[in-house]
Amino acid sequence: MKVRTIWHNVRIATCDEAMTELHDAALITNGPTIEWIGRESDMPRDLDREAKRVDLRNRWITPGLVDCHTHLVFAGNRAQEWAEILKGATYEEIARRGGGILSTVSATRRASEAELFDQAAPRLESLLAEGVTTIEVKSGYGLTLEDERKMLRVARELGRRYPVLVRTTFLGAHAVPPEFAGRADEFIDAVATEWLPALYDEGLIDMVDVFCDRIAFDTTQAERVLASAAKHQLPIRMHAEQLANIGATQLATRMRALSCDHLEYSNEDDVRTMVRAQTVAVLLPTAYLHLRETKQPPIESLRRHGASIAVASDCNPGSAPSASLLLAGALATRLFALTAAEVLAGITRNAAKACGAERRGMLKVGCAADFVVWDVAAVEEVLYWMGRAAPAMVVRDGVRLNSLGPQPFANDS
Ligand SMILES: [Zn+2]
Repeated sequence: MKVRTIWHNVRIATCDEAMTELHDAALITNGPTIEWIGRESDMPRDLDREAKRVDLRNRWITPGLVDCHTHLVFAGNRAQEWAEILKGATYEEIARRGGGILSTVSATRRASEAELFDQAAPRLESLLAEGVTTIEVKSGYGLTLEDERKMLRVARELGRRYPVLVRTTFLGAHAVPPEFAGRADEFIDAVATEWLPALYDEGLIDMVDVFCDRIAFDTTQAERVLASAAKHQLPIRMHAEQLANIGATQLATRMRALSCDHLEYSNEDDVRTMVRAQTVAVLLPTAYLHLRETKQPPIESLRRHGASIAVASDCNPGSAPSASLLLAGALATRLFALTAAEVLAGITRNAAKACGAERRGMLKVGCAADFVVWDVAAVEEVLYWMGRAAPAMVVRDGVRLNSLGPQPFANDS
């Protein structure tokens, strides 16, 4: 039998399209689903019988947070290279001695599935402790069929072992591996015609992504991978316009991408096509900060055209060594001048849309009963702190996961 719970005496940021805020509110969950939401005084009495009641003492709740762009699964890290860069080494010098992304590729290839899991788990735990209940995880550091499979299997296993919905993305077209040096087209061939169909058949892929940029794959190569994704009815994403504008957004939107991510070099025309195609603009301020980028994504234009904006951690060892979605959110308000409400929508509703997580990122009847209870006076406080905000309670699929903070919550019946 499903358990019905009444979570009452609460303020709710629903994060629906209107960003509705409810005071003196209540939320009724029935098993893993939201059954009712509204003012406590309007609560239907017939639902009251035999329900468990939880008094949230006028705290705020938001939907469970959604981290829609991560490279969470990888082995090793690049702290040593970073220290050298701080002392004056250049990325080119480091790349020439096999550093950079290729050092992560070799570490990831050397790691067993169990080792990869053990290294990714603490990063996932950091995100869960912040209230993340849905996460996207990309492959892309294996770059052989076996090693891409290994990464995706680890991502799936994390979703089985932790209370989080994991959406996997095949990012085989992340970089050209050493064995294909100088033969990028042949590599793309393998990714599009062999690896993608094989991993799809094994049920390991929910989405497909391509790094389409000056230093990665061009639009012709990207299109071959995305066409293969479309053939398998897989939704697509795109690392677009991070370092230069080479038409990645135009290609992605033509193919109805769920999202275009980074976007520092995208222009007004790109924004218009994203809005028309209902493609989410995913901003990654942690990478922007770490790389000391100075060119900002076209925030004003995104706002003016009413684009859906998401914000994600981009957790990865090269450009965003961070496992904090709340830090990314806090940075988005400072570096990109997004409002707290824009970021809140960006780490809930719009993020869910960007990673194709249906019924997540919003508190509405019929949506998943994933939510976070915050001990804050105003909901903006969640993004005001930089590295301090922590949830008082996280509920996933209607089940309370933890109770942090000094006082336990009372179940008053
Ligand atoms: Zn990325």
